[in-house]
Amino acid sequence: MQNRAKFWLPRRRPLRYDGRMNTLRIARLLLLAGAVLAQGCRKEARLTRVQWVVMGTVAAVQCADARAAQDARDTAREVFARMDAALSTWRTDSELSAVNKAAGTGAATAVSPETATVLAAALELCDASGGAFNPLVSPIMRAWGFNGAATALAPPDAATRDAAIALADWRHVALDAAASPPTALLPKQDMRLDLGAIAKGYAVDAAWDALKAAGHTNLLIDLGGELRALGEAAPGRGGWRTGVRNPFDKNVCEAQFLLADGEAVATSGNYERFVEINGVRYAHIMDPRTAMPVSGMASVTVVAPTSMLADGLSTALFVLGVERGAEFLRGYTGCEALWIPDTPESPVMFVTSGLAKRLTPVGGAKLNVRVVGTAIPGSN
Ligand code: FAD
Ligand code: MG
Repeated sequence: MQNRAKFWLPRRRPLRYDGRMNTLRIARLLLLAGAVLAQGCRKEARLTRVQWVVMGTVAAVQCADARAAQDARDTAREVFARMDAALSTWRTDSELSAVNKAAGTGAATAVSPETATVLAAALELCDASGGAFNPLVSPIMRAWGFNGAATALAPPDAATRDAAIALADWRHVALDAAASPPTALLPKQDMRLDLGAIAKGYAVDAAWDALKAAGHTNLLIDLGGELRALGEAAPGRGGWRTGVRNPFDKNVCEAQFLLADGEAVATSGNYERFVEINGVRYAHIMDPRTAMPVSGMASVTVVAPTSMLADGLSTALFVLGVERGAEFLRGYTGCEALWIPDTPESPVMFVTSGLAKRLTPVGGAKLNVRVVGTAIPGSN
């Protein structure tokens, strides 16, 4: 396939990042978040963006009215802090850490209705995707040196991977969402939940609901790249211009589309978090069925009616790949997706038809797009 799009691709800078936050990393995150919006994804003019760090990433609200932006930041910050306290496995005092700590004791742990909602959604997506999305992925992550575990000096051997897979059987999780309060129980010792792939999306939805209820009309909520639009960027704009980042050069936007009122978008990528073992880079998105980091995919972007669904689906489709992922997505109304395989030498975007129609190139670049399932006339 002839490479139509000329991406400027810098030499890959192998960064070593296993997920732990430090001040330098946070400063870089804040800079990058601002830089990308200012240049790459061309921030809407005259908008105020207020940002802060939470859940190990950058959160932001963006709107035309500077006072409303501050007010919205206070509301969103409160929601995200509540979610962090409930759903983080990076804090020992969270609800989720209490469920993990009780694994194998036979004791069910009381959780808030919000935690039960996220856990139920995660288990449902896990079942539907045949375990491609799996909230019990934590032992696999830790075997590879992620999420606070010691850096792995060699890839985990088959026995270690099999043991981690045995702890990921979601059918054994006992969630009683109807109880008051709801309870969750992990039957096996060392089973460990990790809602990193869906909880940020839920937090964005909770903030969106709170801001709408507080009377906010036109703003964009961003939590580490999970975005959800409320209203539009400016009267008559029809939504929020959103960029698809080139996974091979994070300062460059490949394409853009309009995120309509209420729509959410999430991206999972292999460039944000990874570990390096013996000079080989392993991304933070695992195939829980093999306990191997997914290779061959650079990023997957999902547009959905809620941020929790976009967040969870972007990870599931990253694991399932283009064909299986597109097939799987047919079961989700109002959802579209874009896959960018990890082929920097001949970059291509596989896009579902509904999103392909909405994509416009940035800066005149010729997009190398293939509509999933059929080739659009005139494409390669
Ligand atoms: P996504 O693709 O959405 O999620 C990838 C993450 O999901 C992986 O990092 C892994 O944890 C998990 N995962 C991997 N493979 C699968 C799979 N197949 N199925 C399901 N899950 C999978 N990070 C910090 O460094 N410090 C913090 O203090 C911190 N606090 C957090 C608190 C909360 C409540 C949450 C939700 C996350 C927190 N994080 C923290 C994690 C950080 O925000 C992650 O980068 C983030 O969760 C990954 O999201 P993503 O959109 O980049 O990738
Ligand atoms: Mg995500």
